Amino acid sequence: MGRCEICGKQTSSHSLDEFVVCHSCWEEDSKELQDLKRGYKKRKKQLKEIEVTGEKIAEELMDVRSVEQVRSLLQDYQQNLNLSMEMDAERDIFLKILDDACEPLSNKLFDAAKEEGWSFLLELIDKHPPFDTPDSMPIVNAVSRYVIWIRFKKEVEDIPIEALEYLTEFNDEPTDMWEDSFTCGWGFDHPEFDFVGELESAIEKGQIFWAVGALEQVFYFEQEKGADILIDFLRREDLTEDEKYDLTQSIALIGDKEWESSEFVPHYWDWKEAVGYDGFEWDKEVKSTLREAIEEELEERVSEMVGEWDFCDLASR
Ligand SMILES: [Zn+2]
Repeated sequence: MGRCEICGKQTSSHSLDEFVVCHSCWEEDSKELQDLKRGYKKRKKQLKEIEVTGEKIAEELMDVRSVEQVRSLLQDYQQNLNLSMEMDAERDIFLKILDDACEPLSNKLFDAAKEEGWSFLLELIDKHPPFDTPDSMPIVNAVSRYVIWIRFKKEVEDIPIEALEYLTEFNDEPTDMWEDSFTCGWGFDHPEFDFVGELESAIEKGQIFWAVGALEQVFYFEQEKGADILIDFLRREDLTEDEKYDLTQSIALIGDKEWESSEFVPHYWDWKEAVGYDGFEWDKEVKSTLREAIEEELEERVSEMVGEWDFCDLASR
């Protein structure tokens, strides 16, 4: 039930989206009703147009020739997502645009970054702040990829602190962006980036599994350093045993999948193939140092495991 948009009487006779009109006003077909109907039609048409923008953007992305075009398609994407949020209470259209355009847009933003360098991505970060952007995923994804890319091609100092800090802004709730933001772990030894501090604050606010994901990234690039960070956390007195155990999940999967299975961070991109990473193997010394620390700090948990335990036995079940 609602109130008739024309006479105010309780009714549910005829609905025009958010408006209802009672039967007698509908029959009377006044100018007011005609205006309402016209508005309704116009709205439907607009919604239809918004609904296909994701497809259109994806199509146009296939043959973009300039960085300027990519930038403007990103703008288009955000604008249409905004419109869909305003007009479509069901959010189906929002999700359709995401489905159609997010991945191709992420791909092109990354290509553009490889061409233009950090200035391109930093400008996007600046122009599309997380709190004011309907979908940050294409930017987060391109930044994540480029962080890894640069880490392999250059030095950690060649990653701007703004990019790493931008990623940490997505550590609040588990989403695709949350997962991609684990890649700030590739900046673990950046002179201006307080990576351990970021892990601490994530743990403090109840996002320990973000810390786990970000710490896991460090092992890919420098397992000694990853082990140092993990062991420091295991030795701390301000963490509970459960928290310490949770943190060991950062290595539990490394041993298990041995880098053969496909990774999901960052999305839409196989970084190992892209940078020519030839697989992960534990360094014997690192592995035994880690084992010792875990046996000391998580004695009970480890003693529950039968026989010669391995990191994969740590995996939460
Ligand atoms: Zn009425």
